[in-house]
Amino acid sequence: MSTPTQQQVMDALATVNDPEIKRPITELGMVDSVAVAEDGTVSVHVLLTVAGCPLKDTINRDVTAAVTAVPGVTSVDLTLGVMTPEQRAGLKETLAGGQAQREIPFAQPGSLTKVYAIASGKGGVGKSSVTVNLALALAAQGLKVGVVDADIYGHSVPAMLGVADARPTQVDDLIMPVPTSSGVSVISIGMLKPRRDQVVAWRGPMLDRALVQMLADVYWGDLDALLLDLPPGTGDIAISLGQHLPSAEVVVVTTPQEAAAEVAERAGTMASMMHQRVVGVVENMSFLTLPDGSTMEVFGSGGGDRVASTLSQRFGYDVPVLGRIPLDPSLREGGDAGKPIVESDPTAPAAVELRSVADKLAGRGRGLAGMQLGLTPTAKF
Ligand code: ADP
Repeated sequence: MSTPTQQQVMDALATVNDPEIKRPITELGMVDSVAVAEDGTVSVHVLLTVAGCPLKDTINRDVTAAVTAVPGVTSVDLTLGVMTPEQRAGLKETLAGGQAQREIPFAQPGSLTKVYAIASGKGGVGKSSVTVNLALALAAQGLKVGVVDADIYGHSVPAMLGVADARPTQVDDLIMPVPTSSGVSVISIGMLKPRRDQVVAWRGPMLDRALVQMLADVYWGDLDALLLDLPPGTGDIAISLGQHLPSAEVVVVTTPQEAAAEVAERAGTMASMMHQRVVGVVENMSFLTLPDGSTMEVFGSGGGDRVASTLSQRFGYDVPVLGRIPLDPSLREGGDAGKPIVESDPTAPAAVELRSVADKLAGRGRGLAGMQLGLTPTAKF
């Protein structure tokens, strides 16, 4: 077999994306040198953005696989280096694409990214679980999805996505969102703290700065959808978000319980006061299917309908119930294990319902024809 050309190797390297930036390493100035020897040995020197890049093993594996696949390559000699400050500055300029720093890309008039803020009146209703599952369901449709965990009280989203201990890579003052195995990228307010166990005792201006940092200083690339997990209630983050991203659409999560519904209405009304549109209500923990197939309304009933009709009346437009998610131990287990239910148990009724909510949000309401209902023989509802 003939010796491969330098161009063939470069073409192969162009298929390798940086796992955080999600663009070809050849475009990012990461391929420092390529040399092809007569015997088919290819030497590649790749520059990492920062020393100790947590994803260097991924880059190593992907580069080796891509180059090995070029016909005529007999072995790959890959060495990794680190960009100089000048090279990093060049990379930052490439990524910024001429945009001034500290601008929120999603707030620009031409932005094509749909931003959904997931809100609730109180904690523990499943807002974070809904956020991560919707994110994964949207990503499974082929969309590029980012998640901002702005819940200062819980910041449980990274753990639910299986990246509990990850810290974002920083290229000077540009922060890379943390990639996850499902393709969704995430940044959490918890990742901005100096230490993991530190309590976030931030108030107005600090929280505002943290939110802007997560939106403007993080390199999100071209996202189709960005989901924000808001803290419960009507606090400072919700106000900041309204000021910085009035175009965000709000999804209100509630349980069927009367008391939960009442506070959820307040969270929805708050969004409207900030000129954001409430696109719908997700009722979570709606019922439990018992082994005999009957259902039990553990948290009562009617909360979702109540929030939807109150908000519809208050705002003068239709705020629908987008879905009713049953109680399901595998939903909790999936969250605890870092594998949300839409991925870990996709045919479970809760997963099917979450996917249907994602379909509605993506404006892809599919007909029933040809659609898998995902009902198990014991589930009769
Ligand atoms: P929030 O973000 O509103 O505080 P979480 O999403 O963290 O709520 O959920 C609180 C707990 O309830 C988590 O342990 C989660 O796994 C569990 N949970 C949420 N929704 C369900 C459900 N439908 N079935 C079973 N467990 C659930």
